[in-house]
Amino acid sequence: MTRPKSRDGATETNLIMYFPGLHSAFKELLLQCRGQKVAVVGHRRPDGDCIGAQVALVRVLQALNIEAFAVNESIIPKRVNFIAEGVPFYHGAPWVFSGEKVILVDCSDVSRVGPEMEKNLPEILGNIDHHRSNEGFATFDLVKAQSSATCEILAGLFIDCDFPVDELTAQALWAGIVTDTGNFTYPSTTGQVLQLAAYLVRMGASPSKIAQLIYERESLSRMKLLQRILDRMEVVAGGLLCYTWVEEDDFAETGATYEETEGFVNYGRSLDGVEVAAYFEIREGEVKGSLRSGDETFRMDMLAGNFGGGGHACAAGFTWKGSFSEFLPQFQEAAEKLLAETKGEGQEEEF
Ligand code: 5GP
Ligand code: MN
Repeated sequence: MTRPKSRDGATETNLIMYFPGLHSAFKELLLQCRGQKVAVVGHRRPDGDCIGAQVALVRVLQALNIEAFAVNESIIPKRVNFIAEGVPFYHGAPWVFSGEKVILVDCSDVSRVGPEMEKNLPEILGNIDHHRSNEGFATFDLVKAQSSATCEILAGLFIDCDFPVDELTAQALWAGIVTDTGNFTYPSTTGQVLQLAAYLVRMGASPSKIAQLIYERESLSRMKLLQRILDRMEVVAGGLLCYTWVEEDDFAETGATYEETEGFVNYGRSLDGVEVAAYFEIREGEVKGSLRSGDETFRMDMLAGNFGGGGHACAAGFTWKGSFSEFLPQFQEAAEKLLAETKGEGQEEEF
């Protein structure tokens, strides 16, 4: 099998397949896209991995002479807007599909595209994702729950299939992988992730330039909002659970936008002794939650499942209907139960 020549003249000498179980389905999926128009759809309130996957897949389809565009119910968060430059990327709800082949990326289930987008979704041809709770919903389900990011799966599949990865595609994939692995620090960071990351750098992704664009363009309003969530932090459950929240008025008062809250949940996780961090956004009649743990035995997806959500073992989320005062005691009880059970099983400790 040949490997693409990389920029520094090295060749991908590692002849293993990155995703042997998925690569023929991926080729077949793209074969069915030949001569068609393709819509690559991501989840509402997208993160770096979602946008990276949408951009990278559209770019590769275009490089294979397949007409493609990306569509998302929400706008692209500012921190990753640079990766979408030059890529046809549409927003709007409801979106009207007109006979395109549809591929969903980074969506654990169909509803993740958002209520307005979901109303008009036609039959789904492809489902490329890394969420444990993804049960499959497309003609071609390419789901690998152990993967760190949808962008990791795409990077591996592009290499396995010898598809062209240019500098901007490598940049999009890199942005997705760094944001979903916490800059290569989460337990999902395997040797394979680093091998693929090295490949992306050889294809032209610049780690320093991308880090500067993602992390060093913060607004003062985001910092003002951050002050509030730090100020409200509560540590409970014997020091194992940290939670904090923002209220609707905080956005108007600080000038920050919903898109600017990404990463806030990680401040709680960084506290010494905290195993589970929770961040809540209190909205009109609902609570949106983000959950994180540094240890995959704690199963954030199961905790989120109690409130109608899902996700990964270390990162999960949900939107729950009701008031925050009703929600909080139920959440605390469910979190304490999970912490006690997990601690009991894994480390034979009590708190
Ligand atoms: P975040 O906290 O960044 O919003 O989401 C963390 C993880 O949980 C993401 O991988 C995301 O896909 C998943 N997630 C967030 N919200 C929901 C939700 O409402 N339902 C499901 N099934 N997953 C969610
Ligand atoms: Mn992801």
